[in-house]
Order: sequence, then C-alpha cells, then structure tokens
Amino acid sequence: MTRVYNFSAGPAALPEAVLRQAAEEMLDWHGAGCGVMEMSHRGKEFTSIVEQAEADLSELLGIPDNYRMLFLQGGATQQFAQIPMNLLAGGSADYLVTGTWSKKAYGEAKHLAGALGGAVRLAGSTETAGFTRLLRPDELDLDPRARYLHLCTNETIHGVELRDANLLPDAGVPLVADMSSHILSRPIDVSCYGLIYAGAQKNIGPSGLVVVIVREDLLGHAAPMTPTMMDYRVMAENGSMLNTPPTYAIYIAGLVFRWLKAQGGLAAVEANNVAKSNLLYDFLDASDFYENRVAHDSRSRMNIPFLLRDAALNDAFLAGATAAGLTQLKGHKSVGGMRASIYNAMPLAGVQALVDYMRDFSARNG
Ligand SMILES: *Cc1c(COP(=O)(O)O)cnc(C)c1O
Repeated sequence: MTRVYNFSAGPAALPEAVLRQAAEEMLDWHGAGCGVMEMSHRGKEFTSIVEQAEADLSELLGIPDNYRMLFLQGGATQQFAQIPMNLLAGGSADYLVTGTWSKKAYGEAKHLAGALGGAVRLAGSTETAGFTRLLRPDELDLDPRARYLHLCTNETIHGVELRDANLLPDAGVPLVADMSSHILSRPIDVSCYGLIYAGAQKNIGPSGLVVVIVREDLLGHAAPMTPTMMDYRVMAENGSMLNTPPTYAIYIAGLVFRWLKAQGGLAAVEANNVAKSNLLYDFLDASDFYENRVAHDSRSRMNIPFLLRDAALNDAFLAGATAAGLTQLKGHKSVGGMRASIYNAMPLAGVQALVDYMRDFSARNG
C-alpha cells in the first residue's frame, strides 16, 4: 500500500492514525461484537462515543458553558438555510461576502428572506477586488440592529483567512461564522461568536456531518415554518438525536478530536500549521515561476492557491505531481491554476515534498 500526499480541498486527507484505528475497530468496537456503523444510536456504546466526542471538542476549543454543540447533517450548505430559519426571526441580517462560500451563504439567505418575513443585507464585499483580501473596516456598512452578522472566516476557494480576532467586525450583534475549512487549526475565542459552524470534511471527518456551536440564547427563535429537523432548539433538546444521526461520521470526528489532543492541543497544531504554510508561502514569494495573489495579511494557512506564470504548463505540472505522489492539486475552476489544501492531517513532510517537486519542476521548465 502506498498512501499519497493528498492536497484535496475536501473531502480531505484524514490523519493516518485515525484511519488505522477505525480499520482496527471496524468489525468489533471495544468488544461490542459489532462495528460502530451497526450499533444503536441510543445504546450505551454509542452514547459513550458521542459524549466523549463532545467532551474532547469542548476541551480543544474551550467552549464556554453557555454554548451547545450540535452534530447535524446536510453539510455546511444546509446551514446556509438553517441559519436564517433559526435566527432571522422577521428581522434583518448582515452578510459579508469575501469569496465563493460567503457569497453562497448570502445568496441562500436572500432566497429565504421573503418567506421568513425578514431582510438580508450585503454589509461588505471584496468581489470587485477578486476576493484576494480581507475587507477593510472602511468598507463595512454594518447595521447595529441586525439579528446577526454572517461571515466566512476561511474562504476555501480563494485562500483568504481571517485569524486576528481584532479584525472581526464589531456591530454589537451576534457573529455567525462559517469555519468549515479552518476550524481546529488553531485556538480561537468561542465567546466572540454567537454561532460557529463547520462542515466536517475539511478538518474534522467525513462529509455530510456539520458541527454547530451555538450560544444558548440564540436557541428558540426559529421561524414558525421551520421544519422540526431544522430547529436548533429541538436538536439541542434531543442531543442532536431527534432522528438517527450520522453515527459513523460522529465516531470518526471523535477519533480526530482525540488525535488533536494527542498532538498537544490546538496551540501545538497551530505551530505546525504555521511551519507548513510558511514553508510554501516563502517558496512561492521567492519564485518568479509561481505566484500567490492573495494579500499577505489575508493569506490562509489551510488553502493556498497558486498560479504557474505560464499556464500552458499546468497540465504537465499536475501530471508530474501525481506521478510523484502529490495529488488533487488542481485549483478550483473559478480561480484556475493550483491549490494546495494543507489541513491539520497534512504532515510537514508532505508540504516539503510539494516544495521540492515545485522547485524541480521550475528548474526543468523555467
Ligand atoms: C466546503 C465548504 C462549504 C460546503 O460544505 P458542504 O459540506 O459541501 O455543504 C461551505 N463553506 C466552506 C467555507 C467550505 O469550505
């Protein structure tokens, strides 16, 4: 067996240790005589798996007591609808658009606003700047009476990341953040947010699962037409198990949380992510063969898009990379070029192998 260095943006590489443990436990979980996929979600074995996963996630992120963790389905995209259904409550919400994902969230909220008897405003956008940087404070038009302000703190496609909590827009309203592609990549202050959500397939586990961390006072405001399954309060009251939850995905997420703790927690994980992203950015910036066009203060540590200055070499670059065991480097079609997604599970050696390949490719083709 040869495992490649997989630079996929999502579903993305998982820690090898997690996959090995899941393989070992596939047929018989801890002497239960069956695997996790085959056990009742209400039995004591699975209950212990969920409780451990919640405790570990809470410890990793330092989640305050007045927040609830939900393990839901439908990915981050379903949250684009579920958030206005639960939080708009006939009022108005502000949206910041800094890339493809926040634009989609804004579009879905707009689509639903009328039916929800509310309004949705664009409170700032970097679209005309090509989504290559964070919003500047003077570009914001915030409504202090908004029910919430939605933003995406890591734009997976454009490689733009907001890390500095001082740069979070402050209108005195709950912040709702799509952290799908950088959650658990470093410590954060959860109390800065009203609601955090993350599709699992980047830094947590299998696709389909979405983790929602929501402040308790934001529960119980769903619009009357909200389906029961989509009501955060109902899901919180039922421990995310109103119906059968995605049990195997939750189990894998739990193994990933344990793995992160074994790495030394999120401060240690962040140090590793700094080293990995610096290695690639420093190489890109010193090169006249490749380039990354994102403003330096806005660059993502997780998703690093880059271009070959001669786009005619793109296919040869990708073919050579695949042959060298470096896969899924093709950039999103809306941006072109390449993208290296280097989530928590990507080891430093994988980024080093990529840089070595890129240096060699440029020497042969420059
Ligand atoms: C991948 C991604 C999504 C969509 O996730 P799905 O699980 O496919 O719905 C939303 N937002 C961000 C920032 C993402 O990276």
